[in-house]
Amino acid sequence: FKMINDSLGHNVGDRLLIEVAARIKLCVRGADATARLGGDEFVIVMPRLTSPDVTTVAGRLVESLAQPFVIDGRELRTPPSLGISVCPQDADDVETLIRYADTAMYSAKAQGGGCFHYFAPDMNLAATKRLHIETELRESLAAGHIEVHYQPKVDMGGRITGLEALARWRMKNGVAVDPSVFIAIAEETSLINELGDWMVSAVCRQLTDWRAAGIDAPRVAVNLSARQLRLASFPEKVALTLVESGIPARLLEFEVTETAAMENPESALRLLGKLADMGLTLSLDDFGTGYSSLANLRSLPLKALKLDYTFVRDIAVDGNDLAIARGTIALAHSLGLHVIAEGVETVAQWELLHDLGCDEVQGYLVARPAPPEALTALLLR
Ligand code: C2E
Ligand code: MG
Ligand code: MG
Repeated sequence: FKMINDSLGHNVGDRLLIEVAARIKLCVRGADATARLGGDEFVIVMPRLTSPDVTTVAGRLVESLAQPFVIDGRELRTPPSLGISVCPQDADDVETLIRYADTAMYSAKAQGGGCFHYFAPDMNLAATKRLHIETELRESLAAGHIEVHYQPKVDMGGRITGLEALARWRMKNGVAVDPSVFIAIAEETSLINELGDWMVSAVCRQLTDWRAAGIDAPRVAVNLSARQLRLASFPEKVALTLVESGIPARLLEFEVTETAAMENPESALRLLGKLADMGLTLSLDDFGTGYSSLANLRSLPLKALKLDYTFVRDIAVDGNDLAIARGTIALAHSLGLHVIAEGVETVAQWELLHDLGCDEVQGYLVARPAPPEALTALLLR
């Protein structure tokens, strides 16, 4: 819904909401109360329904709302995520019932939407755990207790062409949290902006140390999240960090996932254009997992596409993955872009990628992400 509002305007968004409300009304009984809570969230109260009926109605709602809406001759799709809480089984006060329905709705959303979930007590546990992670991550960020590991990218001759900076974090109990977990939580809050700023500063500090030690440090790539792409002040912040640290812009790169860059191509283009104008390098991460339009691909100021590891993983056994890799490399080269294969673990994968004309690889075959000390040794060698 946000994407529709941003790209087609609030007028289209408003009309979509009206159509959605009309479809909801068709699915419920006259005695049921329907209300819009705000944004794209609706609440339906269904008194005296027995539970098989709830499932029927929920199924009908999902099916009806998943059909495309035609507004201004444009087909819009907004598959809904439904969360259900039942009174008195789950709770018997309004506030808790709505909160539980909300939790169930997020669980449906996390499964990709277009479905309904009943509230279950273990969802509460998951929500509490999330909140706990969020709180501790906020504290760690404030205290600077996030580590940066670095993984080399190498060309087909084995020379290091760059490094990727990857965030590493441990909870107070010493347990390391998987980056995909804490990054996802940070992305739901504005924490990702703070984490992103922190990563840029930390990388600049590291580059300064390496340069001071006489090490010819290669360019370092920092991952950018979708939320950071929406922050218009981001390029100025980066410029300031570069000036303060004395690091030339050519030593810094940003990796943007294909999904993030294509979410709102116009604003992504504006922001990435600014970063490119400053002399920074940009690559498209996890390529093949999102939906790029060729026009957008051509207009983004990119240096490289990073072929997602899911295609690299089975490249030696799955003909489709091999075809995707070959196609990506041909596409990239015809657009004047490099291809970096992610997650290369075996010699067989490397050989195939080499034969396909892939430019660079990154993966456990070459080196795992490691703390800066380990990289210092490697760079000196
Ligand atoms: P990514 O940017 O695609 O990073 C590559 C991931 O692949 C890293 O996972 C890396 O450790 C892993 N990897 C590298 N070589 C291999 C291999 O040969 N085999 C396998 N199985 N995996 C390999 P990691 O460090 O867990 O990071 C996961 C994701 O979290 C990253 O995916 C990135 O999207 C995100 N992330 C990490 N640090 C940051 C950050 O500072 N900011 C943002 N916005 N995202 C970050
Ligand atoms: Mg990356
Ligand atoms: Mg990737």
